[in-house]
Amino acid sequence: MPGLYIHIPFCRQACNYCNFHFSVSQKNRPDFLSALVKEINITKDFYTSSKNNSKIFLDTLYFGGGTPSILSINELEQIFVAISSIYDFNDKSEITLEANPDDLTITKIAELKSLGINRLSIGIQSFFEEDLMYMNRLHSVSQAEDSIKNVFKAGIENITIDLIYGIPTLTNERWTRNLKKAFEFGVPHISSYALTVEEKTPLDFFIKKEKLQPVSDELAAIQFEIMLELMEKNNFQHYEISNFGKSGFFSRHNLSYWTGLPYLGLGPAAHSYIKGKRFWNISNTSKYISSINDNKLPRECEELSLIQQVNEYIMTSIRTMWGCDLFKIKNEFGDIVFQKIEKTSEKYIRNGLLMKENNNLILTKKGKFLADGIAADLFVD
Ligand code: SF4
Repeated sequence: MPGLYIHIPFCRQACNYCNFHFSVSQKNRPDFLSALVKEINITKDFYTSSKNNSKIFLDTLYFGGGTPSILSINELEQIFVAISSIYDFNDKSEITLEANPDDLTITKIAELKSLGINRLSIGIQSFFEEDLMYMNRLHSVSQAEDSIKNVFKAGIENITIDLIYGIPTLTNERWTRNLKKAFEFGVPHISSYALTVEEKTPLDFFIKKEKLQPVSDELAAIQFEIMLELMEKNNFQHYEISNFGKSGFFSRHNLSYWTGLPYLGLGPAAHSYIKGKRFWNISNTSKYISSINDNKLPRECEELSLIQQVNEYIMTSIRTMWGCDLFKIKNEFGDIVFQKIEKTSEKYIRNGLLMKENNNLILTKKGKFLADGIAADLFVD
């Protein structure tokens, strides 16, 4: 089912671990919005090359960033008007907006809801001030707590929160308290990532200058284990390596990425995929704007070889609770590829890191700690 991703490349403050494409300067916002509206029109035939005028129904619409909640209601409305001139969507569509807690006032939530946004992804990260300061997050703990309460109060039940573990200031006891707090609030979905030090980020710089404590893989591994245990106890399904949901609340948008369905991404740095072709827009908002103004899509394209397609499928599917479908591999990529993957998987099955269920290779609890390494070893060349 078609999905649309819109990248909003603006933030109020730079979190020091972040390597996404964003700018804290807001000067390009009006020009960015005009360019985005234009890009929505230019790419209108992405899902269909037919000349009929019927609109494609969007199963999912996702505003990511950056900080999409930074946009005013008028700015968001402009984008919705442009989208609805090309696509159909309704209250059955999953319409997600990533939001920072400091933006989620009662008025703002009501405005977002009036636009049809029915899922909010809130960047909580931690319920402890020390962790928020370590990461240079803009919001406070009380804003984090209020944002969740306000969203529920407004009647939006499809909430996901982001939590980060492996922060040097986050003890195991505090990590447990973070998770318990999320459970007490009743959020039905949690995305959780280990803090990673990406090159050229302020975090990388401050750690090298010994101004911030270094990040430890051991701490992250212990906290991942704590998380798996507590999520299970609280009836969250671990449906993707970094995502946990109550039944009925899995992210439909992200599932399309993980199951190899086509998707269209608009805005600077956004990625798209269709029929073995991957596209990515330039990660530079000014260049994005001027290219669109010249009626040129600011993107590069790569046609994936069959080997790249199978490896991409392995990488994404093995991270999900449904695993990697060996029948699909046999049907779509042939017997030789299937046999090679099956042979490589044998040692992991013997070691208890993978299990085979109905011809799907699925990570065991032990295997989840080594997901990326196992996927890489299953790759074919
Ligand atoms: S708010 Fe999100 S996108 Fe913006 S700097 Fe922080 S982590 Fe990055």
